[in-house]
Amino acid sequence: MSDWSAQSPLTCLSDEEQMFRDSVREFAQAKIRPLVHSMDEAGKFDSALLRQFFDMHLMGIEIPESYGGAGCGFFMSILAVEELSRVDASAGIIVDVQNTLVNNALLRWGNEDQKKRYLARMASGTLGAYALSEAGSGSDAFALQTRAELKGKRYILNGQKLWITNAVEAEVFILFATVDPALGYKGITAFIIEKSFPGFQVGKKEDKLGIRASSTCELILENCEVPCENVLGDVGKGYKVSIETLNEGRIGIGAQMVGVASGSLDYGVQYVKEREQFGQPIARFQAIQFQVAELATQLEAARLLTYNAARLKDAHLPFVKEAAMAKYFSSHVAEKVTSQVVELFGGYGYTKDYPAEKYFRDSKIGKIYEGTSFMQLQTIAKLVLGER
Ligand SMILES: Cc1cc2nc3c(=O)[nH]c(=O)nc-3n(C[C@H](O)[C@H](O)[C@H](O)COP(=O)(O)OP(=O)(O)OC[C@H]3O[C@@H](n4cnc5c(N)ncnc54)[C@H](O)[C@@H]3O)c2cc1C
Repeated sequence: MSDWSAQSPLTCLSDEEQMFRDSVREFAQAKIRPLVHSMDEAGKFDSALLRQFFDMHLMGIEIPESYGGAGCGFFMSILAVEELSRVDASAGIIVDVQNTLVNNALLRWGNEDQKKRYLARMASGTLGAYALSEAGSGSDAFALQTRAELKGKRYILNGQKLWITNAVEAEVFILFATVDPALGYKGITAFIIEKSFPGFQVGKKEDKLGIRASSTCELILENCEVPCENVLGDVGKGYKVSIETLNEGRIGIGAQMVGVASGSLDYGVQYVKEREQFGQPIARFQAIQFQVAELATQLEAARLLTYNAARLKDAHLPFVKEAAMAKYFSSHVAEKVTSQVVELFGGYGYTKDYPAEKYFRDSKIGKIYEGTSFMQLQTIAKLVLGER
């Protein structure tokens, strides 16, 4: 594939970033690409591939080397998610949830004992999941109903979570429950839960439109016993854990959508140069050229917003508005690019024999998870209008 993207100080990569991106790109092409179609059809992620993510040090990108991680910055996670999603958005989200939500929460809110117990595992072979949503609480996440009651040295959790990414393969879950519904959001508490804890069960797996190889399941907690030492952060401060991790996680979804749009457009550009109608490649028609130019421009803008938010985060500068903008805009662009690439392929784009339709299906999730597009607009509006 040609690298036709524009250059700017934001998208210019350091030597280290370039080497890292190239290695992930090569790996994705060689190892993931051949499995994409079958994993999508089966609705199941290849377990050997998941193992290779750990071997490639993609599952503990920001975890310090002292805990067995790669010791890199947040921007590297963004590059990894983009490159993987360029080939398969399911691969992208598995790595994204691990790095930008689970590891991020453990690094930021874990005490030394928790870091010692979990970080080395997360870097070397344990997959994580992030469980906030419930059937009745999505956008209104703090209306969650899962209860946590202190009994001696344990919390007993009861309730159900819905839509939890990685649930089939994950061993560790960052899960949110309330210690007292009367306290409202101030009762919400984050817990580190292991799949093996008594009373914990993974329920129904969703059969989805896109990112089909990424597992999305219900979680059932029936008198689930969680030791007190597995409270993550302070009791009643789970709302802070969830808001702050999701603020960063959103940049990851921006990167996933940039990757999806980029992979789709790569195929589109290649196809219009090869496909002949009226005795010439369709790329010679100005209507096609202008569509490609428009999509490439939109994609570049989405990438700039995403990289900007990630670089702000690494520089410890305010990034919440920029992160919401990156997710909002990139998911909009991914849907537009992938939809138009289906059309550039003509009838072939509508079949499963070509990758265009899968990119289109995969793009749709960007506007939904980790805060819908309307929720991003709400955050942006509050910050622009100065209400926060
Ligand atoms: C494939 C997949 C994977 C997921 N993975 C995870 C995961 O790993 N962990 C997790 O915790 N959750 C996960 N989710 C859940 C996801 O974050 C929620 O679906 C999302 O936040 C939306 O919540 P909801 O589905 O309840 O929709 P609702 O909140 O019911 O929204 C329905 C519609 O109403 C709109 N709306 C709601 N409130 C307002 C408002 N105030 N103003 C304007 N419009 C509004 C929304 O934008 C949306 O269009 C996943 C979901 C999916 C589909």
